[in-house]
Amino acid sequence: MSNSSTVIAPWSKEGAEVVALVQSHAVGGLREETVEKHRQQYGENQVREANKFRMLRILWRQCSSPLIFILVAAAGVTALLGEYIDSLIIALAITINVALGFYQEWRAEQAVAKLRTFITVRTRVIRAGREREIDATEVVVGDLVHISYGSRIPADGRLLQLQGLMVDEAILTGESLPVEKTLDTCLATAPISQRTNMVFGGTMVAEGSGVMVVTAVGDTTELGVIAALVSGTERESTPLQKTIAKMAWFITIGISIFVTGVFLLGISRGESVLEMFIVAVAVAVGAIPEALPIGLTAVLAVGVERLSKRKGVMRSLAAAETLGSTTLVMTDKTGTLTTATLSLVSVLGTDDLRSSAEVAEVHTSLSSNQKDILRLSVLGTDVVVENPDDEPGSWRVIGNVLEATIFKSAATSGIDVTQTERFALHIPFSSSHKFSASRGILLDGTNGESLVVVGAPDILLGRSTMSEQDKAIILTRFAAESLAGRRLVGVAVRHLHPADNIDTVDQVRDLDFMGVIAFYDPVRTEVPEAIKTIETYGVRVVIATGDLPGTAISVAAQLGWKVLPSEVVTGDMVRILSDDELKAQLATVKIFARVTPADKLRVAKLFQASGHVVAMTGDGVNDAPSLKAVDIGIAVGSGSDVAKGVADLILLDDNFNTIVAAIEEGKRVLGNIRKTFVYLMSNSLDEIFLIGGSLLFGLALPLSAMQIIWVNFFTGSLPAVAFAFDKNVSHRSRQAPEHIISRHVIRLTAVVGVVISLLLFVMYYVMANTALPQEMVRTFIFVCFATYILIISYSFRHLHKPIWRYHPFDNQVLNIGVSIGLVLTIATLYIPFFQHVFETTALPLVWWGGVIIWLLFTILFVELSKWVSHRLQ
Ligand code: ADP
Ligand code: MG
Repeated sequence: MSNSSTVIAPWSKEGAEVVALVQSHAVGGLREETVEKHRQQYGENQVREANKFRMLRILWRQCSSPLIFILVAAAGVTALLGEYIDSLIIALAITINVALGFYQEWRAEQAVAKLRTFITVRTRVIRAGREREIDATEVVVGDLVHISYGSRIPADGRLLQLQGLMVDEAILTGESLPVEKTLDTCLATAPISQRTNMVFGGTMVAEGSGVMVVTAVGDTTELGVIAALVSGTERESTPLQKTIAKMAWFITIGISIFVTGVFLLGISRGESVLEMFIVAVAVAVGAIPEALPIGLTAVLAVGVERLSKRKGVMRSLAAAETLGSTTLVMTDKTGTLTTATLSLVSVLGTDDLRSSAEVAEVHTSLSSNQKDILRLSVLGTDVVVENPDDEPGSWRVIGNVLEATIFKSAATSGIDVTQTERFALHIPFSSSHKFSASRGILLDGTNGESLVVVGAPDILLGRSTMSEQDKAIILTRFAAESLAGRRLVGVAVRHLHPADNIDTVDQVRDLDFMGVIAFYDPVRTEVPEAIKTIETYGVRVVIATGDLPGTAISVAAQLGWKVLPSEVVTGDMVRILSDDELKAQLATVKIFARVTPADKLRVAKLFQASGHVVAMTGDGVNDAPSLKAVDIGIAVGSGSDVAKGVADLILLDDNFNTIVAAIEEGKRVLGNIRKTFVYLMSNSLDEIFLIGGSLLFGLALPLSAMQIIWVNFFTGSLPAVAFAFDKNVSHRSRQAPEHIISRHVIRLTAVVGVVISLLLFVMYYVMANTALPQEMVRTFIFVCFATYILIISYSFRHLHKPIWRYHPFDNQVLNIGVSIGLVLTIATLYIPFFQHVFETTALPLVWWGGVIIWLLFTILFVELSKWVSHRLQ
């Protein structure tokens, strides 16, 4: 593919000239047949990562640990001394360790990289004279792109038209305030931040809208060039990984001291220096939980992958870690709890609203007043029909759901929406001010321009010229309609005099209130069940909506909630109450209604301050700060690119159910992290008493260096890997968040590690002082040591529940891992070659009786520890 350069410094040229240079057309855009040609000529709109060295980099990370250095030294020394088989086994251990680490880390990177492909950015282009929506990756040089509020700019381009366009270019320039765009040409030498007639791929539209002609795509965009430069940077570690990394240092230091002690003690007891060197290496290898960081990465990556199959996209491994601790979900209503398949129920003019009479639902024909209201509301929509030649009933309308519904409902009600005046969007809808305003010339004979305002009816009413008495009557009616489950949208107009300036939201006043359109938005049938499930996880749900309290209460009722008036707090109240007063309310509130993004942010912060781990949904540009501030920012798939850009979790299907799935996966991830931790760390403590004790008491070492290495690399590491795939969810219904490495986890690790190791030593001590054949005794201890590590993994599948309360064998990966471990252990006893290498002897059947008693005992002991430690908490 040839990425031939397009226009040189398009910002220094007139728009028309740039359009000509990229062989496009300023009105109709590219023709269909030119699109493919341009893709061939200028390349695709995808930023390729320079990942040539990624594999090598990961491989190097695996090899550059002190543990590997020690092992390589040991392999070298044994080889020099002619102990080739030992040397080979150590080399094998190195290979397996590096390969396993490489595989898991590679997988984790792939899992996160793959997530990016789920989040498709859609973009509006004008091709062959028609506007349509395509994937941003399909944009080519020469395309005319319609950019608007909240969207991500798909590629670099020269602006041709604009309306109050402000762009957030922080990603490119670091400038945090949005930049105002113009159409004027700039100097050819202008730096990026001063090319004000250009917009750049990857930046976000913060306000207004515009049309640009694409001048560069993919790797040749400004961001693409930077991405190529920085793609070598490391993935960021999660908080837990940082803690573990720190912990690993202390452990390594502690073990180094211990190992030095073992080495010196051994020599002073007359063991050979070489023998003791290898034993010291083996003990170090056994005690350093080298598989831990890798194991945790694997757990996180598997969780991220698993959730992606359930329509949830975690943006980072860190999100996977935090999700499981969530204690409070603030969810919005439309789309998440409801289906957002709005259907038009009725249109009510001001007279209808004032009278208390029932108004006919809309399947009958509309009165002329109702038609007028609907027609006006269409002027306030900013949508595109993909297939305008089809019947209105089967139109695919692109744009905001509510606006698309207004548009389509009007069309199917017999209003000629294509004949309506072209109004220009003047103030886009935002959940802060809750209306949109468009201006243009009405065809009804009115002189001059008019402003059409569509939005929250109570707010439009408040900005209207109606008498206070009438306002009060109509507001009561709104409350009644909304309590009946209707979603209301108000319509108002104002005729503009030439001197009227409408530049700010505050200037939208003195409106002529026309009436409301009522929609019905059914609740998702699966949500009531989902809420019950999430509550069993100890997670509380509150609704925070921009809609009327009535509509929210009605939705809550359909969810099976009983909501008292005192449990509803409106945005107005939020703004009046002080932090302390608001905090006092938090414990009981179920619904926050008519709130703005700023209110939601304040409430979320107060929840956090009172100890909650908060997850919050959002869709608009204004929600971005809150999504960043809370612990888990959740963006809906249909939301703005800005919201998706900062979220930790994205719901591809907008569904509340997916939040529950995500929290469940989060719990599973936390549980699996804890299992892996307890399992690996308690194993690490094993050799300490067994080897240390034997040396102190002057006994022959019970395990040879090769045995220790064997157990660590070939048997013990297999169950640890399998924990990443464990499906058991281990959770406690508690509201207070727990540290991942909780007290329970630490107690279990310490008790199991120390006691079992101590018992193994005592058993060895007792048996060593009997007349039993010592070779047999040492083999027995080795078998007990190697097999118990495998078997107790079944007890660790659940850190709270006893083993008989769950099915221990339903993790197939674990079963396979344990089986391989058992086969390997048996092989070391009965195959003559291995007997020689591992200094073992064939164990007669009676001894196996002893092994089985020991295994039963360890399981029992772990179960007892689980039970006691669980009760202590
Ligand atoms: P939510 O998504 O929580 O239901 P919003 O903040 O999106 O609440 O909407 C608040 C109110 O603003 C709605 O009740 C509706 O009347 C109005 N509204 C919502 N979307 C639009 C839109 N695109 N254009 C005009 N008005 C809208
Ligand atoms: Mg909304």
